[in-house]
Amino acid sequence: MKNEIDNKLKKKKIKPTAMRQLVYEILHNQQKAMSLYEIEQQFDNVDRSTIFRTLKIFQYNCIIHSIDDGTGSVKYALCKDGCACNPADLHVHFLCNKCGQTHCLKDLQIPKMDLPNGFSFKSANFVIKGTCFNCK
Ligand SMILES: [Zn+2]
Ligand SMILES: [Zn+2]
Repeated sequence: MKNEIDNKLKKKKIKPTAMRQLVYEILHNQQKAMSLYEIEQQFDNVDRSTIFRTLKIFQYNCIIHSIDDGTGSVKYALCKDGCACNPADLHVHFLCNKCGQTHCLKDLQIPKMDLPNGFSFKSANFVIKGTCFNCK
């Protein structure tokens, strides 16, 4: 696992520090989107701003994407391999009303919108709310 993470980071020209490896591993193991606070809870004693900086570097390099699911805290999740965070890479997110967890539905693309003349698409937040498989 460690080597795999190292390679992923190096491919993006990011130096694999211990902090970066850990944040990556946490997001990988959780298989759901996590807020800064939730990631912080996984550590015993770490400066929140260090985690935040790591997330920003990851986000900038399309290792993770951020999700505004309307709960008020931004969440982060790993991107698919080869993701460039282009409109074509965007997918639907699912917020469970019961457990409050946000899942990436990576196989569900955001539907193409025909925008009126003069408007150009940059990004979108497509969040579906309901009950997840865990809470059924
Ligand atoms: Zn749920
Ligand atoms: Zn996602």
